[in-house]
Amino acid sequence: MSATIIDGKAFAERLRGRVAAHVTRLKDGHGLTPGLAVVLVGEDPASQVYVRNKGKQTQETGMASFEHKLPADTTEADLLALIARLNAAPAVHGILVQLPLPAHLNAELVINAIDPAKDVDGFHISNVGLLGTGQKAMVPCTPLGCLMLLRDHLGSLSGLEAVVVGRSNIVGKPMAQLLLGESCTVTIAHSRTRTIEAVCRRADILVAAVGRPEMITGDWIKPGATVIDVGINRVERDGKMRLVGDVDFASAVGVAGAITPVPGGVGPMTIACLLANTVTAACRAHGLAEPE
Ligand code: NDP
Repeated sequence: MSATIIDGKAFAERLRGRVAAHVTRLKDGHGLTPGLAVVLVGEDPASQVYVRNKGKQTQETGMASFEHKLPADTTEADLLALIARLNAAPAVHGILVQLPLPAHLNAELVINAIDPAKDVDGFHISNVGLLGTGQKAMVPCTPLGCLMLLRDHLGSLSGLEAVVVGRSNIVGKPMAQLLLGESCTVTIAHSRTRTIEAVCRRADILVAAVGRPEMITGDWIKPGATVIDVGINRVERDGKMRLVGDVDFASAVGVAGAITPVPGGVGPMTIACLLANTVTAACRAHGLAEPE
């Protein structure tokens, strides 16, 4: 038996289509063009690629894209001043500061300087608190994308046993909060978890957000489980660089009921959810109906 492959790339394409349709309605019906500002400090090559893709996809959906590229030695005061300007700019509905920031900048301070209503990454402490208390929040894009794929594949998640491997603020913790919000029984596993294989084998839903190539093998997976692989790891195989997840796809695919591939699973959902969050932020700012 082979698992159903959850096609995140196709789902993300459909989501981007729905976002674009909503943007058209906002422009035509209300003269409102949602705008996303992306701030990049320094020249990290991976971050440059992410920022370029975000800008391109923002424009493709008909939204306004504002890119702010600052030198690596930008001071905290200058970065905070830019964020204050973006907070006050009516054309900007979403603000994203690309992480990681250079070491001399305090990422928490910078993120918490963003207006929570424009915090489309959902990392501001107010949004973290709103999500944690089950209130309307800006939800971090990667876990939101995972949840959309799970709902699409499973329908109701209520009562299911979910294990999230990884407890980062950007993936693991918000993912666990979202699954709790769906009435799953949630366990968060991490580097100090004992008998982690046995913990994972309990899961009807297993989310891997670890950053360790192919750590989770088929014998960690309950037969028929739905596996969401968030990991993006660059490894060398047969002299070529390849992307692999945190799950060993080859052994997992024979055990799981459904699984996201890497690439083409969770990855494309992250930017699509960022675009969706920007439209949501624009609608909330103007008291208009939010996209579904
Ligand atoms: P972090 O490094 O911030 O967190 C990794 C987590 O995994 C930590 O909680 C850590 O535990 C845990 N961990 C590390 N080693 C082990 C182990 N041997 N056993 C169990 N748990 C372990 O990573 P992120 O959450 O930022 O990212 C996770 C993965 O997801 C990465 O591959 C990243 O590239 C990918 N990613 C993908 C995105 C996408 O768009 N698809 C977006 C964001 C991330 P502890 O806390 O105890 O140290």
